Amino acid sequence: MCTRCVMDTSDENIKFDMNGVCDHCHDFDQYAKSNWDTDEQGKNEIERVIAKIKRYSRNKDFDCLLGISGGVDSSYMLHLAVKEFGLRPLVFHVDGGWNSELAVHNINVMIDKLGLDLYTEVINWEEMKDFQLAFFKSGVPHVDIPQDHAFIATLYNFADKYRIKYILNGGNYSTECVQYPMKYYYYGTDMKQIADIRKQFGKSKMETYPFSSVFRHKLYLKYLRGVNVVKPLNYMPYNKEDALSLLEREYGWKPYPQKHFESRFTKFFESYWLPERFGFDPRRVQFSSLILTEQMNRDEAIEQLQRPAYNTESIHDEFNYIATKLGISAKELQEYFEMPKKFYWNYQNQQDVFRTGAKILRWIGVEKVKKREQ
Ligand SMILES: [Zn+2]
Repeated sequence: MCTRCVMDTSDENIKFDMNGVCDHCHDFDQYAKSNWDTDEQGKNEIERVIAKIKRYSRNKDFDCLLGISGGVDSSYMLHLAVKEFGLRPLVFHVDGGWNSELAVHNINVMIDKLGLDLYTEVINWEEMKDFQLAFFKSGVPHVDIPQDHAFIATLYNFADKYRIKYILNGGNYSTECVQYPMKYYYYGTDMKQIADIRKQFGKSKMETYPFSSVFRHKLYLKYLRGVNVVKPLNYMPYNKEDALSLLEREYGWKPYPQKHFESRFTKFFESYWLPERFGFDPRRVQFSSLILTEQMNRDEAIEQLQRPAYNTESIHDEFNYIATKLGISAKELQEYFEMPKKFYWNYQNQQDVFRTGAKILRWIGVEKVKKREQ
């Protein structure tokens, strides 16, 4: 394990220096810090961007687009957008069939209190189920892609349909500066991989599910239509605990036991499936981000990691619930749990294209230098 954060060799591409400090930590010092302006300069920059958004959208119905999952980052982003920036966002939510009661509560209290309309995109459940089952049958770790992809595609579909040029995103260095290993969290927009897995294991034609290839949104929407993604949380100090208390105080928002637990499926995937079947605990990534940004104590993180992220008493019921909802028996789900492990490289993929694309964008200076891509 790294001597500074809690990443360890369960991330197979991790590298350590002679002091036992890992490459995630070095990447943080080298890249995240220099792109994260929390002082006066950041404040001026975000004010300039907001003014530009308002100018551009003066005669339009909406200033910007904002997707809300019910999680803390997107909820806090919504609060900032309306209350601090005075923006008029089109707020949408993708209902993939797995919303937790807490997520529904948190979205509703915010929408009510802020007096906004919520645009909900409900994904056809039969298609979603078939898509998720295909990923389980394929044996890969990234079974969360059917949910993630629907979110990304819906986001860009809204931007296209309502001709909205600015997308506000709650993504941030503060709680997400350490990246998930590619081995377990492969690109959700690799359509070649999705097509291969669907062809081998899917049954549904998926006529209504929203698909969007990376070429469409990175090239067509971004460069030809000028759709911009703005991440305001990178221009200000952002402290998770402070954001949580503000949301609780102002909106009656209720916290989750762990990041991404707003979806009942993701909760099962990240607390049980990924650690138990693949030996990778995503809390290592989340805690390491908080340690590097001085929001968590390393000893406390190590202590928490010794206990499983799932509830040992109710996991059996949870397992049955997931199987039943997917329309299979618990025995069948158990077979997928035990089957040989497969990874993105076992299926057709466009990783080379993604890598080359990222290199070109960095080379022409359009995208900032990021961290490793493994
Ligand atoms: Zn480290």
